[in-house]
Amino acid sequence: MKILILSRNCNFYSTARMRDVAISRGHEVIISDPLSVSLVVDRHIPRAFLNGKSLDDIDVVIPRIGMVSSDFGVAVVKQFQFMGVTVVNNSLSIMRAKDKLRSMQLLSRHKINVPRTVMTRNPSGLREAIQRVGGPPVILKFIQGAQGIGVILAETYKAAESTLDAFWSMNQNLLIQEYIEESEGKDIRLVVTRNKVLAVMRRLAKKGDFRSNIHRGGWGELANPSQKLIDVAFEAVRIIGLDLGGVDVLESNIGPLVLEVNASPGIEGLEKITGCDVANEIIRYAEMKAELQAAGRKKGKTKHGAGLSEQSV
Ligand code: ADP
Ligand code: MG
Repeated sequence: MKILILSRNCNFYSTARMRDVAISRGHEVIISDPLSVSLVVDRHIPRAFLNGKSLDDIDVVIPRIGMVSSDFGVAVVKQFQFMGVTVVNNSLSIMRAKDKLRSMQLLSRHKINVPRTVMTRNPSGLREAIQRVGGPPVILKFIQGAQGIGVILAETYKAAESTLDAFWSMNQNLLIQEYIEESEGKDIRLVVTRNKVLAVMRRLAKKGDFRSNIHRGGWGELANPSQKLIDVAFEAVRIIGLDLGGVDVLESNIGPLVLEVNASPGIEGLEKITGCDVANEIIRYAEMKAELQAAGRKKGKTKHGAGLSEQSV
């Protein structure tokens, strides 16, 4: 197959691992920064180009869309869907996953437990909003943050108010979220498809921090998740609409609380800590999805417009 990995840097561990595995499985691999792909919206026929070369013959796209390339990256993924190319995580699910408020809304609507979360832009109602999530300390969070950047612990009303004031003055929205103290800087990261666990680890924050992200100095250890936790992760990925994702879960006194679902989970820490070959699982998943869709097309569906059935929730 011809696999296109959309990634800003071919030296990123996850990107390089997927490339190596794909090549060893006999595939041709192109790695491109999503920002380098040109989209042509022509009469009836959507096309994509890289350095003047048509990308018409791609069989499957694996998007790794980070913050920098976010909007354009999602548009690139959508273009490939319109071209009838298999994508591992469609554009709508990536958009949902990137938006923590939207994810929380969707998850809670489908009876997945999440930390109590408030979104407000009303300074006069701020005290009440903070009380609604249990009072200080509270977590303040960028809606589109990642890697622990933009997750703040506000210990007092005053700290929360002044932080929110500052970000609101820059027209930046923040979520106000109950602080799950009992999780003690730990969370569980599960990378799953809708019915298969690819790898799981417990992440622990570095001393003095409450954020367990590896990028913030946290580290990981082996974890043995309960079936309930695994089922929550399967369900979370399904609700967001992802083929596969990294689900962050806090273990609270009332059971698992889903923090977010990542559409492009990093696999470096996971592979090193668990010994699982996550890259191989992802490439195998991509092969399987592309083969299934090709078989579906042979049965009579047209290639173009194959991505039109996405629901726009
Ligand atoms: P990011 O997209 O930046 O990873 P998360 O919502 O996953 O954002 O938060 C980053 C980390 O901060 C989590 O892995 C967890 O360790 C900690 N954290 C986030 N929200 C809470 C919360 N409500 N209570 C306790 N810890 C939290
Ligand atoms: Mg996270």
